Amino acid sequence: MTTSIKNQPNLPWVVQKYGGTSVGKFLHTISSDITPFYLETKRVAIVCSARSGETKEKGTTNKLLKATQSALEGKSRYLSIVNEILQDHLSTARQNIQTPHILSWLENQLEKEIINLGSFLQATEILGELSPRSKDIVIGMGEKLACMIVAAALQDKGIDSELVVLNDIIDREFTVLDQEFYDYLALRMGDIIKRCGNRIPVITGFFGNVPGSLLTSVGRGYTDLCAALVAVGLNAHELQIWKEVDGIFTADPRKVKSARLLTIITPEEAAELTYYGSEVIHPFTMEQVIRSSIPIRIKNVENPVGQGTVVFPDIPNSIPSSHITPPLSPTFLAKNGYHSDLSRKSPSAITVKDNICIINIHSNKKSVSHGFLAKIFSTLDDNNIIIDLISTSEVHVSLVLGCDVPEHSFSKALGELKKLGKVNKKNHMAIVSLVGKQMKNTVGVAAEMFSALASANINIELISQGASEINISCVVKECDSITAMRVIHEKLLDAEPCVDSYF
Ligand code: ASP
Ligand code: MG
Repeated sequence: MTTSIKNQPNLPWVVQKYGGTSVGKFLHTISSDITPFYLETKRVAIVCSARSGETKEKGTTNKLLKATQSALEGKSRYLSIVNEILQDHLSTARQNIQTPHILSWLENQLEKEIINLGSFLQATEILGELSPRSKDIVIGMGEKLACMIVAAALQDKGIDSELVVLNDIIDREFTVLDQEFYDYLALRMGDIIKRCGNRIPVITGFFGNVPGSLLTSVGRGYTDLCAALVAVGLNAHELQIWKEVDGIFTADPRKVKSARLLTIITPEEAAELTYYGSEVIHPFTMEQVIRSSIPIRIKNVENPVGQGTVVFPDIPNSIPSSHITPPLSPTFLAKNGYHSDLSRKSPSAITVKDNICIINIHSNKKSVSHGFLAKIFSTLDDNNIIIDLISTSEVHVSLVLGCDVPEHSFSKALGELKKLGKVNKKNHMAIVSLVGKQMKNTVGVAAEMFSALASANINIELISQGASEINISCVVKECDSITAMRVIHEKLLDAEPCVDSYF
């Protein structure tokens, strides 16, 4: 097959990020439907995560993490994990690629990469140590293997693609992940990608030796951030995050039947939803594209014609309308299909985070209250414990955190906290968070939320609302969390929002 479909010069760029399950299960849709469709009117750049199977748990990144662990422990199990990764990629390649020479080239490349990976892990086993940076190199293999397959699958469909590996992109010394670093990365990515000319770049979502290592500084889900930086570097018209859901809903549609798809949501709301249980987008992503006024659209690979959810900042009231320029102007937004319901007065969504515990600390009053709080926070910091919510009086502090904290950090922290006063722990809790930027201007939302819980006879263990008023959260027993979500949704979110004259 000749590769005749190319990016057409001068069209606006769209950056498409595909998650692990999308490249794992929907490769055919991506290469046969989605990409060709967008190539008619846009220049497309693709960023991919490592392949996942049914669950993230069984995804390539997790397998790579397990392989490094077993090599470090001197167990040869990593050999079978590496072989499993190879077989998974080879069988996907064989299922999706028809052109014999493209397939045999790809099989060769995959095998070569896996041999390198095996040698790297063997060295790890011998040395018995692995620096965070070396661990990054192993993890980055997941994105490289996935991108090789996607690039080949596109070529198989006559689309002229080029693999872009960002492992060695950073050629200056940086010590922190600050805006200067992100601006530099976006520029570098833009330059490197433009070297593909009219070929469709297929870019590894893994992007090299960032200060402190990608896994520790950015964490899992780093491909979203990579895609955002690529979008900034190319000055893209839109960043698309392709998943297996239609977008962001008012509640988890698997648990609340009447949940509605939100057409538009602000980045602050999307970030809150991500922190409190709904895996939306890596939170670092938003700031980067928003600085450049690039909308993010969450789309569904299983329903490509759906409009998805657009994450887009509000236009500040302080900006006179005559100063609003594309893509921020309402007419531009309307013309490009960003239907707005930003004028909604109700909250936007409700989310639940399970597997939570509460730690109550009652001060022994040996220190004044600021010293008491300072000691609590330094203990948490020393043990890398992240707090989701906090509620405090002068002598009593309740901390809400995920139960997934490693046991040794947890017991060490508890030991330290016990020096400050009486400590007790409650397990099997859940955080229920109502999110919406409009709540700020509306009186009575908290009252309705809590009366909904009371009507269902659900006890509230703790309440928290910050001054930003974008999130009202409470903690309930985990066994009550689904009912809590349903009754609050029914009371505050079931009705269609009133869409008034934003345009
Ligand atoms: N593959 C990596 C992970 O599983 C990065 C990503 O998906 O964004 O976290
Ligand atoms: Mg991911």
